Amino acid sequence: MAAMTAIGPCYRCGRPFEFDPKTVPSVPVDPQTGLPPDLGGDAGRAVNRPVCPGCCRAVNPARRRAGLALWSETDSLDNLKGQDRGQDF
Ligand SMILES: [Zn+2]
Repeated sequence: MAAMTAIGPCYRCGRPFEFDPKTVPSVPVDPQTGLPPDLGGDAGRAVNRPVCPGCCRAVNPARRRAGLALWSETDSLDNLKGQDRGQDF
């Protein structure tokens, strides 16, 4: 089976990281404004953008204070085993 991982920039910090597209925490973002719908972006245009584990840890205190669901702080790659993990860098 081919590798199931993807590589892309984190929505928050912009650094490329490897992730499992099925389990990575993500936020819907309106590509025209760069904003999530809850900050004024258009929900109809929004596409999910991944967030890296470091940024999930960084935003969770604010999400907890705001009463929002916390994002997973584990690396989505930890859920993959063997060849599904793809190449190490
Ligand atoms: Zn990040």
